[in-house]
Amino acid sequence: MNIVPTFLATVRRSRHSRRNVRLMLQIVLLMFAVIALFAVIFHYLMLAEGHFHSPAASIYWVLETMTTLGYGDIVFTGDAGRLFAALVLLTGILLIFIIVPFTFIETVYASWVAARNEEMAPRRLARGISGHVIITSVDPVSFALIRKLEHYAYTYVLLVSKFDQALPLANQGYNVMVGELDKPETYKKAQIEIASMVAVTCQRDSINANVAMTIRRLAPEIPIVAIAQSATASQILKLAGATHVLQLTDSLSQFLARRVYGGKQRANVVASFDGLQIAEATVRDTKLVGLTIEATRLRTEAGVSVLGVWHRGEFTPGNPDTELTARSVLVLAGSTDHLQRFNALYPQPPVSGKPVVIIGGGRIGVATGQALEHAGIDYRIIERDPEACLADGHRVVGDATRLSVLMDAGIGDASTVIVTTHDDDINIYLTLYLRSIRPDLLIISRSMHERNLANLHRAGADFVMSHSTMGANYIFNRLKRSNIEMLAEGLDIFRLPVPPKLAGRKLADVGLRSRTGCILIAVQDESGMNINPDPHEPLPASGEIILLATVEQEASFLKAYPLASKPK
Ligand code: ADP
Repeated sequence: MNIVPTFLATVRRSRHSRRNVRLMLQIVLLMFAVIALFAVIFHYLMLAEGHFHSPAASIYWVLETMTTLGYGDIVFTGDAGRLFAALVLLTGILLIFIIVPFTFIETVYASWVAARNEEMAPRRLARGISGHVIITSVDPVSFALIRKLEHYAYTYVLLVSKFDQALPLANQGYNVMVGELDKPETYKKAQIEIASMVAVTCQRDSINANVAMTIRRLAPEIPIVAIAQSATASQILKLAGATHVLQLTDSLSQFLARRVYGGKQRANVVASFDGLQIAEATVRDTKLVGLTIEATRLRTEAGVSVLGVWHRGEFTPGNPDTELTARSVLVLAGSTDHLQRFNALYPQPPVSGKPVVIIGGGRIGVATGQALEHAGIDYRIIERDPEACLADGHRVVGDATRLSVLMDAGIGDASTVIVTTHDDDINIYLTLYLRSIRPDLLIISRSMHERNLANLHRAGADFVMSHSTMGANYIFNRLKRSNIEMLAEGLDIFRLPVPPKLAGRKLADVGLRSRTGCILIAVQDESGMNINPDPHEPLPASGEIILLATVEQEASFLKAYPLASKPK
């Protein structure tokens, strides 16, 4: 940080700072004049007492008196001299201990602090940055995106309209820039012409639309990825110039609902990469319950490989001796053909007749209900606001923290509860409560912030999905060619070019899972997608690999095997 030029620039630019510095200089000059005047008076008063003191000695006496040091080596003996000494002392206290320090703090120091703050939260992007992602809002999606960008060593700038809001963020280590979001000037200063993308993630669609329009006028080519709260907003954002729009409410509610019904087929596809399908399949009501993965013989019978097993929100990589229970959910990899074979072997039983209980009748709760209805599953929404617009027959008005309300909604014999309020504290509280009254319930919860994920799992949620991670992954995927698909909160499937350190090496020798925790699902090269790569075959230098890993495992993989360059 080079604060001196910033300080000088601040003083030069601001009339107020210039006036302050001038005032400080005037006070310092006044102090010198007072010292000189006192030294002259001292000289003549001492002469009157019959002593001669040189100009240096006179100044020395004035300074030791003004600073209250008073060594006592030169003293007046007459009343006039002593009265003068008292005046010098009082003037010294006033000037040196009160006026000068206070004026210094008020003027020069304040300008210095302002300059330092400006350096931390500048109004212009620092030189030498390019290919950065411009993020236009401070919200949970942006923070999750920043974490992701940092993992992959992308640069970004977080635009904040108010300096007061920017400074605490800068102090926390975020790369912020201050500027009005609806002014083209801001984006020019953020070097939009050399940026790689703009992420427009504010929770208000109207702000997002205005931001997208402002940017599009200035930079016709730059990808703008936006988050929309509704289908209409999604269309408007596209009209405003957004290149990609994620309707978060819809995606999140689909995700939550999918955990309940698992689709019409038992194997429910959750991600696909050029012919490779990743699917989840419940184990209940099949002869697989009680078997180990090895004993299921799924690879020989259906061609699918078992990547791992979910149990109560916890994912365990698929070891041959992992035992399946009625609550297990298999994570499978295979081609469409393999999954069809699996579905034929293990058909989906008809959906349970007991209504699913949804807590919270906001946008997510209502959309989740609609997704369930679409799948032919009955549901009840508990909503504490009697004014909320909810369909009759599905609505239970009351506070879900009250047992009587939960009972009215049918919690006694429901198999699944989906907790959808946007307050993580309430979601954690409700999860704990529900788990205590119904230990066997499938609890699926929404979380707003990534940081509350662990607590929600600890409270007893089987599956958790956060709003912010979902939005961040979507935006990040538009930047990276290697798709990231989210299997569940915190567990991603992602595609990367084979890192130079792995090129030509055999999987059997690398020990990828023990070193990084990542599971290699497939290898892709010119010949196509190889879903069950032979561990004794060397990895191609120019191919791609598809991995399954948690966010932490992904980071440890990238640390152990850095990529040749950022994936484009
Ligand atoms: P979104 O619209 O993003 O889904 P909201 O916060 O608007 O999020 O919706 C959550 C809904 O949950 C609100 O309508 C709120 O009244 C409701 N809610 C919050 N806490 C409880 C509770 N303890 N019991 C029942 N409903 C609740």
